[in-house]
Amino acid sequence: MRRRSSRGSSPEQVVYGSPLTHIPCVQLGGDGDRSNVEDRRGLVTGGRLGIGGILLLGVLSIVFRQNFFALVGDDGATTQAQGPQADERRQAEAPLEKVAVATFNDAQKVWARQIRAWRDAKLVLFWDQVQSGCGGAGAEMGPFYCPGDQRVYIDLGFYRELSRRFGAPGDFAQAYVIAHEVGHHLQNLLGISDKVQRAMQQEPGRRNALSVRLELQADCFAGAWGHSAARRQLLDPGDVEEGLAAAAAVGDDRLQQASGRRVSPESFTHGSAQDRTRWFRTGLESGSLDACDTFAQ
Ligand SMILES: [Zn+2]
Repeated sequence: MRRRSSRGSSPEQVVYGSPLTHIPCVQLGGDGDRSNVEDRRGLVTGGRLGIGGILLLGVLSIVFRQNFFALVGDDGATTQAQGPQADERRQAEAPLEKVAVATFNDAQKVWARQIRAWRDAKLVLFWDQVQSGCGGAGAEMGPFYCPGDQRVYIDLGFYRELSRRFGAPGDFAQAYVIAHEVGHHLQNLLGISDKVQRAMQQEPGRRNALSVRLELQADCFAGAWGHSAARRQLLDPGDVEEGLAAAAAVGDDRLQQASGRRVSPESFTHGSAQDRTRWFRTGLESGSLDACDTFAQ
């Protein structure tokens, strides 16, 4: 992997706050920088609506008891949903948003110091449905990274799922989710994603196995970021356990079990709970991208 050693002072020596006071993860680089955030929550695009758009607006209008059709101008402009329901939803998400944005910014800062030709990704916040450079997506798919437009997409409602359905609460669990997606951006910039894509085309039979290795590496990269955060004393006691629990909760075997399906390792695309925690831990303990070669074995 092409890497650049950090210039001058090591990023690990930077301390954002006094280690003597309680520093929750939400304060990670929490300087309120939103330059890489695209808030598309409640965004309604005007102009010609397809049937999907009409249905979506209809559903939104029912759910929020507000006429969203009224927001659609005929000049093709986009409008942000307003009104008490939208405000309430935004307010309810504010703590989750803070963790997501702070982690996103911090992880990018850490990698920017180590990777030549680093370019920041953008974080897109959305509700329910989104159009990405990789096509349309629904919130039920969970957060994802699109290499085509170098954006991480998240409906913050996923964090409630993570806590309630998957039993992985806590701000570091939330941070892990974002750090994993930033890990995919790192893979993209390092040319790993392209290489894997080509290998998948050459050997379609290994598609799932290659996907698992790519995902486990993103977990390892997330762990390596966690290592940096820990060295800067940004983590609370219990944070590491939260992250490990989250990595396990989104293991393919757990997800298959939770949805009442038979556990079939050959269909795994992200890795088992055990593998995901193992690689997250590898990154966390080593702090080194080189330790994250999930393709070597
Ligand atoms: Zn992933």
